[in-house]
Formats: sequence, structure tokens, C-alpha cells
Amino acid sequence: MTIFHDASADDTTVFHGGVVWLEPHKTTSALAITGGTISALGEEALALLDQASHTVDLAGRFLMPAFSDGHCHPVFAGLEYQGPAITGKKSIDAIVEAVRVFAEANPDAEWIRGGSYDPTLAEGGNFDAAWLDAVVSDRPVILRAADYHTLWCNSEALKRAHVTTDTPEPRLGRIERRPDGSPLGTLREWHACDLMLDVAPPTDPEALVTAVVKSCEVANSNGITWMQDAWVDLNGHRPFITALERNQLTVRTNLAFRADPDHWRQQADDFIRMRAEVHAAGNEHLLTARTVKFFVDGVVESATAEMIAPYLDTHEHGMPNWSREELLLAVAHFDALGFQTHLHAIGDRAVRHALDSIENATEVNETWDRRSTITHVQVVHPDDLPRFAELGVIANFQAHWAQEDDLMTKLTAPRLGPERTNLQYPVGSLWRSGARLSFGSDWPVSPNNFVETMLVAATRQTDDGSPAEGWVPEQRITVDDGLLIATAGTAYQSYTEKFRGTIAVGMAADLVVLDRDVTSVEPMVARKAVASETYLSGVKVFTR
Ligand SMILES: [Zn+2]
Repeated sequence: MTIFHDASADDTTVFHGGVVWLEPHKTTSALAITGGTISALGEEALALLDQASHTVDLAGRFLMPAFSDGHCHPVFAGLEYQGPAITGKKSIDAIVEAVRVFAEANPDAEWIRGGSYDPTLAEGGNFDAAWLDAVVSDRPVILRAADYHTLWCNSEALKRAHVTTDTPEPRLGRIERRPDGSPLGTLREWHACDLMLDVAPPTDPEALVTAVVKSCEVANSNGITWMQDAWVDLNGHRPFITALERNQLTVRTNLAFRADPDHWRQQADDFIRMRAEVHAAGNEHLLTARTVKFFVDGVVESATAEMIAPYLDTHEHGMPNWSREELLLAVAHFDALGFQTHLHAIGDRAVRHALDSIENATEVNETWDRRSTITHVQVVHPDDLPRFAELGVIANFQAHWAQEDDLMTKLTAPRLGPERTNLQYPVGSLWRSGARLSFGSDWPVSPNNFVETMLVAATRQTDDGSPAEGWVPEQRITVDDGLLIATAGTAYQSYTEKFRGTIAVGMAADLVVLDRDVTSVEPMVARKAVASETYLSGVKVFTR
């Protein structure tokens, strides 16, 4: 398969002088690519060195299948590079200053939109419109928090959206208010954010294409050649088609259309149309739209993840977006239409309902290669662990979240209590149960760095190596198993495992060269590994 109509498609490239990782505890010494496909391994590849058109001396580096990102948000990530530079800013003052600088440099921007700010910088995550008003008062400003379920707006934005003292509380969401009832400037969850997003003008279509192309560049720089966009709204497929037509889609992408709990019955026709338009664009190896996404619940940090037992602080069970009955109907409906289902489930009750809905679909619909996926899988009741393997459900983990960082110790653990805290991210239990596992970054919520994901899965430690024995150490897996999940495991989720995701003769040359052998050095040294080259079907799409 040639992706970029490369005139040199029959050239042979031989990689040698390093470690070529094939599968857990199995490596070889060399690899040859011909016409975008892996053509020889080991001694047979070395035998081609003399006649090869190119040779790559790995100089001890580590060649492995390119990573697949089983859950991310490339348009959100790409757009962060276009707005005010607030990502990673460590104080409210620094964020406000970045907004001021952007506003000054872009006097014609009628709305200022940006992402994503660290919601832990303000007490309770409550950000005040007045802080933004101090630098921009003439135009609306809306900023997304890093969780992408929260907005911080200035007063002009609140005015345009008619969010006032009299605005009633939405069903799914919360308007943070001052003691006098007036809106503070922070909107949480779906229906509150929609009050604002529904009045903001749509993003310029060309800016969306630029965002897609930028996200491909960044993903390639981290060794990624396949990604799951896990949140595509109406006509959100178009920038991907444009990028494909311009030969700028350098990450194979599958789109998941978001099912809205209030409108899913009416959405089906649009999903079928968008899927057909994507597939008519004509490159099934680069762009597909085979998936529907369900946000079953929220997140623990906002006490919106849906729990079987109440949170210790709020004494509530969270904020389910779907009733169990509606979720069962909707999942079965889209499954019957041939869509893979991809369910965000974080609390133990949400995970249970997600499993129930997939089980129901297997019972009421015909048997097919459905590959249903539950993503995040944060708190799982022990009774539900065996169900993943039994039902053939893929658990898509953001394993880099499985560490005892500030978020865990300050926000999550106090709210869950010790027993449920230790049930989080059961990567090891599910792996040993024979369940299918995959990894996803949730980028830009977290960086799309799969070296870090694998190493946290293997150590359950923070980057300073604590705790020494790992957090909930029985849930650790080996680095080799992490490599398998991050490559072949996620390729299975993506339906691409027959032509990519493993190193074997005849497979597409989707490859990454890491700057060190991550299987043979100390985990904290391995964790610093970076991609030095990335190949998509043998075409070099990144070099450091
Ligand atoms: Zn996500």
C-alpha cells in the first residue's frame, strides 16, 4: 500500500545495528521495508544491505511498531495551538496575561477562544469572569478547562449567552454563582456549557483543517500512526476529509460520532450520512468513521462519575448522562446499524451499565465483529472484572493516570475512600483475566506520550519514582506487555490489526524508532525515551 504516491515505492530500506522488537521477549537484529511494506527480518534483512537504496543505522536504538492512540481529541488538541497560549500555565495570572497578549495581537478576533487551563489553580475549580474582564471586556472570551467539560467565560460572553441571575439550573450541568445568585464565570458539564457554545460562532472551517494537520504532526512526533477521535459532533468529519484530500492526514484516523442522550434517535440519519461521506472520500486505510461514542458519566474530580455507593463528601452518586434503560436502547440501536460502540465510563456504576448495554446488544442483535470498547475504566466493581473477557469488551486505559499524583491524593482518594481508591485502573487484573486491552491518551486532557503510558502501567509510580513499590502494585504489568497493548492491542480496537500494529513480513511499515531500548534500562530511564523517527507505510513522517 502506498499512501503518498511515493515514486520511490519500490526502494528498499534496511534498518540495522539496533534492537527490533517483535513481541514480548522476542527481538531481531534488522528489518527491511520495500514499497511501504515490511519485506524481511533478521538475517534476511541484513542480506539486503548491499543492494538497499537506503540504510538506517539504528546505533543501538529501538525499532518497534508505531503506537496507536485508542482515545484522543485531535481537533481540540490542534486548536490549542491557535488560541491564547494558556496550556500548561501554572498560575491564574499567567493565563490572564496570555489572554491579554493574544487579544492585543488579534484585534479583529470577535470571540477569543482557547484551551486548556489547569482547573486546580482556583479554589474548587471556580474561575471568576472578573479576572478575564480585567484584560478583555469588549469581546467575549471563553476558555476550556483541561477536562473539556468546564468553561471559564468573561462577562461579555455571559451577556451574549444570556446567562444571568435568572437563568435556571440546567438538567445536566451547573452554573457556578456568586452569593447573590449572579453567574460567577464557570460553567460545568453539558447543558451549562451548551448555553455558551450554542451562541458562539462556529470555528472557521480552515482553522479546523489546520488543527487536524497540527495534531497529526504532534502525534507523529510521539510515534503515533493511528488515532481514535473520540468526540465528533455534527459535520466534524469534514476537516478530516479535507486534510485527507490534501495528503496531509499523516495519522490514520477513525472518527466516533457522539450520541446525545436527548437526541440520539434523530442523530442516526446524520451518523449514517457522515459515515458514508467519509468512506466515499476513499481511503479506508487512512480515514474511517465506524464508531459511535457515549459519555455514560462524568469524572470523579467533579463528583460526576456515577458510583454504586455515594461519594464520601457529596453523599451523592454522581451525574449519569444516560438512564440505564436509554443507554441499553441506544447502544443496541447503533450496534444494529453496524457502528462500533465506544463508551466513556469512569464510576463503577457507569462501567456496570456500559457492560450491561453491550451484553444486551449481543443478545438482541445479530452476531458480528463489534469490538465494543469501554474507555477510562477507572473504578470497576470486582464482580464486573470477569465480564470484560466474557463479553469480548475492549478496556481502553489511560494508564498514565494510574499514579499517586496530586490529582489522586488531593481530589480523587478523599472522595472515594481507601477501598474504592484501590479499585482504580485495574490494568493487571483485566490483563490476567484474558480481556482485550488497549491504550489511549485522551490528548489534550493528557499528553499523547505512550512511552510514559507504558512505563506508568509497568511501575504505577510518579516520575520521581514514588511510591517505591508502586501504587496498587498488583495492578502492574510488564513493559513488554505494555508494548503489546500499545501496539497490537490498540490495533485490534482499530480493526487495523490485519495490516499494521505488529512487525512481520507483509505488514505495513508503520514503525517508530525510540532513542533507547525501553525493555532493558531502568524504568525511570526508559520513561524519558522519545521517538527519533516515525514511519507511516514506510514514509518517514517525523524525524527529530
Ligand atoms: Zn476523552
